[in-house]
Amino acid sequence: MGKGAKSPNEFEIIARYFAPLAAREPGALGLLDDAAVLAISADRKLVITTDTLVEGIHFMGDDPPESLAGKLLAVNLSDLAAMGSEPFAYTLSLALPKAWSPQRLEDWLSGFCAGLRKAQEQPGVTLVGGDTVGTPGPLCLTATALGTAEPGRELLRSGALPGDVVYLSGTLGDAALGLRVLRNQLPGVDPTDGEALIRRYRMPEPRVALGLRLAGIAHGVADVSDGLVADLSHICSASGVLATIHTDWLPLSKATVDVLARDPTLLASVLAGGDDYELVFTAAPEASVDIGRISRDLALPLTAIGRIDAAEPGHRNQLVRVVDALGREVDVIDGGFRHF
Ligand code: ADP
Ligand code: MG
Repeated sequence: MGKGAKSPNEFEIIARYFAPLAAREPGALGLLDDAAVLAISADRKLVITTDTLVEGIHFMGDDPPESLAGKLLAVNLSDLAAMGSEPFAYTLSLALPKAWSPQRLEDWLSGFCAGLRKAQEQPGVTLVGGDTVGTPGPLCLTATALGTAEPGRELLRSGALPGDVVYLSGTLGDAALGLRVLRNQLPGVDPTDGEALIRRYRMPEPRVALGLRLAGIAHGVADVSDGLVADLSHICSASGVLATIHTDWLPLSKATVDVLARDPTLLASVLAGGDDYELVFTAAPEASVDIGRISRDLALPLTAIGRIDAAEPGHRNQLVRVVDALGREVDVIDGGFRHF
């Protein structure tokens, strides 16, 4: 790359280098969705996704191994949830720092595996393989999650339609603010709020049950891993539509409301920060009764946060508009997490 040239971002890399290798398999979905959906028999599809967590990028060196295990499984199961898939197994690859002492290695492994055991239980998944290597670099964790889906009931990013309502599960922004608390970037935060935010950063809950209930109801679905604006943009570009979201409709936890009351500029982190692992989805306005029922059944807030419109020429670069209570456009400078 020439001097001063900007590195391509991860999506440009995937589109340019990897998508051509996936072109022959329709189930790869152009490497543009949350997971691949492969036809294995007439009545079942195999859904596969993989995600890596790197020390110093996705977690901090002193994060407890128990919660790291939960997070690794959760980020993978979250992608299956976004496809409406039922998980059943996963593989695990670990690159463990050679610099660790034997004691540190054993302590870490026992904590990590206790965390995995706990995280496996509720979604009913089992470890079925993996790889274990040493590295001169930082700790690096990869899991590949496997699930199934009924043909025709899988959820895609590409189904959003003009006139749809945009919904978000749970609350937004807690994880991004939790990371700021861990980095001492929110001095003076109420300790109870701080703990709640850190918990959401360290222990996301994959919305597997919600994904399974959304088949036949949701049109376009993604999980919020890179930030609401970025992940909703992915739905918009896959569907050829635009979205408008309203800041005063956003579902916020008490802790996030408290933090924003002290510093309203942190709204940009709430909108663009990642790691929530909630589902963002679109559905026809008539689906609101069904969605209300699902929300009650799962005891999980499902909040309308905006709407989908037809794409117009001239809007190409901005697929998601964010407006405040007075209808003024809010600038989301940080368009989501960038690796490069
Ligand atoms: P998510 O945030 O939902 O985990 P990513 O942003 O990591 O998804 O990836 C976007 C898409 O690109 C996914 O379909 C993923 O499978 C694919 N992808 C990412 N990296 C690679 C790679 N190195 N080779 C093949 N496909 C990839
Ligand atoms: Mg995803």
